[in-house]
Amino acid sequence: MEFRVFKQVSRVVFGRGAFTQLSDILEDFKEEGYVVFILDHVHKTSGIADLLPSKKDDCILYVDTSEEPKTQQIDVLRDDILLTKLGDIPDLIVGIGGGSAMDIAKAVSVMLTNKGSSSEYQGWDLVKCKAIPKIAIPTLSGTGSEASRTAVLTGIDKKFGINSDQSMFDLVLMDPNLISQVPKMQRFYSGMDCYIHCVESIEGSFINAFGRAQAKVALGLCEKVFLNPKKDHNEDLMVASYLGGASVANSEVGVVHAMSYGLSLILGYHHGIANCIAFNQLDEFYPKYTPIFREMMEVDGIELPVGVTANVTENQLEDMVNMTMKMERPLTSALGPDWKNILTKDKIRELYLRM
Ligand code: NAD
Ligand code: ZN
Repeated sequence: MEFRVFKQVSRVVFGRGAFTQLSDILEDFKEEGYVVFILDHVHKTSGIADLLPSKKDDCILYVDTSEEPKTQQIDVLRDDILLTKLGDIPDLIVGIGGGSAMDIAKAVSVMLTNKGSSSEYQGWDLVKCKAIPKIAIPTLSGTGSEASRTAVLTGIDKKFGINSDQSMFDLVLMDPNLISQVPKMQRFYSGMDCYIHCVESIEGSFINAFGRAQAKVALGLCEKVFLNPKKDHNEDLMVASYLGGASVANSEVGVVHAMSYGLSLILGYHHGIANCIAFNQLDEFYPKYTPIFREMMEVDGIELPVGVTANVTENQLEDMVNMTMKMERPLTSALGPDWKNILTKDKIRELYLRM
């Protein structure tokens, strides 16, 4: 019997104020070279940049996350770094932000040592060469990117992750103070990404006991956080995000992600809200959890957009259906090897039109 090896993040630093440890942590990774800090553009004014222990030769790059990370964006970032540094590769990449900035950091770390375009590595285990070491500092919780083995990128015709052990962070620094300024709706949508990861993991057949334990704890924490929104739950939310991401690394996502990727690819909806719009129509597949999701929405005062597919063209709808059909692994985990007979093209189409 063959056992899969599940790579884990090797070091986690956790606690309020942990960000002040960054200087010491960098020393452990640095040799003679430089560090590339990749920050979400929100941190141009958040104050975090002023506290960065950066040195003269380091690069500080702000990434615009108003759209989700693109393959072309990664290729340009990689080329710019190499051009500026005359081909010298950095000792370390540090990604600071939400899922977008963390995924960009992961993808750049992979693409600095692997030839060609990042679009060639979207898929499972296609990365050939060892990536540059990398650190994640989440400032928005939910995606679990900090613990997962994927860097999700949008290309011309697909939204797909670079799924590889090389996409995993070497160290994650979690400081719950860093998520305290996230706007309420964003916190909810990204938090629900975590909830949905757990639901899909637990309900999917690719899960093992390890992933199930992680998902169950994270699911409970999400319910605690979003059913009692008046309390400061930043520590719980950060832990939930991490465990949710780790559980997906031990399993797979499911029908919600397979549908939400179509909404993001064709209509440009961000991941968290796209997941919520999809989940809200998938009672048939996740009947135990959609009522709790709606309760959390009500308690948190969240109203989802409706009729998002009302004006889609036939071609757009076709592209969305095709995107969902590409998600073979998640759909196999969710519905079994016979998934194409359960989630037919017509069924997917009908579900999209309900959103
Ligand atoms: P995000 O990173 O796209 O950020 C959303 C918004 O929050 C941005 O406007 C950003 O500027 C802002 N923001 C971030 N930190 C903030 C802070 N401290 N204060 C105020 N605003 C802040 O959102 P996300 O939901 O974290 O990430 C979504 C992305 O992650 C998508 O591209 C999705 O595909 C990807 N994703 C990756 C994985 C994975 O395992 N790699 C899993 C799920 C989703
Ligand atoms: Zn997700």
